[in-house]
Amino acid sequence: MKDASLLLLPGDGIGPEVVVELRKVIDWFGNNRGYNFNITEDDLGGAAYERYGKPLADETLTTAKSVDAIVMGSVGGPQWDNVERHLRPEAGLLTLRKELDLFANLRPATCRPALASASSLHEDLVSGLDILILRELTAGVYFGEPRGIETLPDGRRRGFDTQVYFESEIERLLHAGFELAAKRNGKVHSVEKANVMESGVFWREIATRVGKEYPDITLEHMYADNCAMQLVRQPKQFDVIATDNLFGDILSDCAAMLTGSLGMLPSASLGAAINGKRAALYEPVHGSAPDIAGQGKANPLATVLSFAMCLRYSFDDNENADLLEQAVDNVLDQNIRTVDIAAKGVNPVSTSDMGDAIVTALGNLQTAA
Ligand code: NAD
Repeated sequence: MKDASLLLLPGDGIGPEVVVELRKVIDWFGNNRGYNFNITEDDLGGAAYERYGKPLADETLTTAKSVDAIVMGSVGGPQWDNVERHLRPEAGLLTLRKELDLFANLRPATCRPALASASSLHEDLVSGLDILILRELTAGVYFGEPRGIETLPDGRRRGFDTQVYFESEIERLLHAGFELAAKRNGKVHSVEKANVMESGVFWREIATRVGKEYPDITLEHMYADNCAMQLVRQPKQFDVIATDNLFGDILSDCAAMLTGSLGMLPSASLGAAINGKRAALYEPVHGSAPDIAGQGKANPLATVLSFAMCLRYSFDDNENADLLEQAVDNVLDQNIRTVDIAAKGVNPVSTSDMGDAIVTALGNLQTAA
């Protein structure tokens, strides 16, 4: 038996609906694959605001710091639009990321074979695509000081932000990139704008130095604008793209579209390994989708695939992560689809039916093995 503690934070909107389906999957792994899950469920975001008066309660944060991994649904909704900024649902998520120092954001852009035709690119460019964008998440221009909007003595107004990275922040992100590439296809693209930014020159210098510690991994440097272009020109040339907060934000959204649907995209945010343990938060890329909440239309697969990442990165369990991803592929191959990914002429299934289909597919794979 493998003990594993999980904190589930369903959140708002479709979050609770997709996390209910994830519970079915987690229970299946507990019953069939030797896991002894210790699961705590709590509120985050708007739901936490309603229950605790703030979007991340102190006791929730304490639990978050103690568990092996956190899996989240999504937060936010129009009913909290007028709440003070620091009490809004998103503030709870940002605090959680900051408190756990989750500096490495992993966003895989994997094109599941059955969905290749849903991409905005030609099928042959994306079929079999498997790239990983590694975005620095806790520093850079989104956090740099000084920042502001001001009026100069001569009356001109200006707005400004500061792109700033400490050496240690770049180093740890690049180390994560090389370690991930070692478990994948052995290639890292370090992406910056060294042609026009001092922080880019600095980033490239450190990437080159860190790269020497990983002689088996191929390191290539690329300017961010070229990377955006190459992502839509020839996306399969990439394995791991390691980049800063701002470029990673943009490039990961660009890569996301290659794969078809928002309802399919998982993510992981990881902290540094301390005494062999790494803080980790897994969540779908999509938001709380208030437009479809409560209607049984939400696609739970991004959340299910986030749990596959949890098995892979928090429990070092590639075998079960592969099994879960295979179950997702098998279900899609059978044309079992929620409305966002439904093929023409095929009736879509509900959120709950999709959860059941994944559990059935897992059972079939287990029987066949
Ligand atoms: P969204 O991702 O919630 O929805 C965008 C569109 O995609 C909608 O039409 C929605 O119906 C659809 N969609 C999203 N997920 C889907 C799924 N699993 N299955 C089927 N369709 C799906 O983005 P938005 O509308 O810009 O934001 C809605 C709320 O979510 C806002 O309050 C926003 O702040 C919040 N948000 C939260 C997170 C997060 O929790 N990490 C991320 C993004 C947005």
